Amino acid sequence: MDAPVESKTRRRISANMGMRLTCPTCGNDRDFVEVADGVILTTHYIQNDDCSFSQDGDESQILGEIRFFCGECNADLTRFHQRFVEMLF
Ligand SMILES: [Zn+2]
Repeated sequence: MDAPVESKTRRRISANMGMRLTCPTCGNDRDFVEVADGVILTTHYIQNDDCSFSQDGDESQILGEIRFFCGECNADLTRFHQRFVEMLF
């Protein structure tokens, strides 16, 4: 009875260790900053019958580079950005 529970726990811990992004400089694993250069923000609005406006979609285009930094020590973590995007929900 004990053995299956133990192996399940171990598997979950190792999965978390593999996924979690940690700053190699300061060990921060909570705060991260994404910086995009040359962004064009295009937002569509619909005018309602009462003359108010409602936002109807957001098409943003990033023309420049996207960089990724540690939120604690500002180390450049751009090499981890792809992994960040994959884990973004
Ligand atoms: Zn850091």
